[in-house]
Amino acid sequence: MHLRMPLPRHNQTEFIQIDIRSCIACGQCVAACSRNVLGLLSILRHRHVHVDHPDRCKGCYKCIKACEQRAIQSRQLKEAV
Ligand code: SF4
Ligand code: SF4
Repeated sequence: MHLRMPLPRHNQTEFIQIDIRSCIACGQCVAACSRNVLGLLSILRHRHVHVDHPDRCKGCYKCIKACEQRAIQSRQLKEAV
């Protein structure tokens, strides 16, 4: 029997959180991240940015500045409010 395991959450790191509903998969944040934390997912209708290596994120927030859709937020600011 083949069991389907639930997918882990791949929309956040220690520092940032991505609202994939707002993401248009333009790739600007992927290009802005020098640590290769982010990648693009494209499976059927699922086209959005994806956190590939959350442990590499150092919280520089270049991805937030690169996103014109405002799909990426700082988790630190959110938790401080
Ligand atoms: S820059 Fe914003 S809209 Fe573009 S891929 Fe990244 S999160 Fe999605
Ligand atoms: S905060 Fe910096 S290191 Fe983390 S995903 Fe964004 S650009 Fe990459």
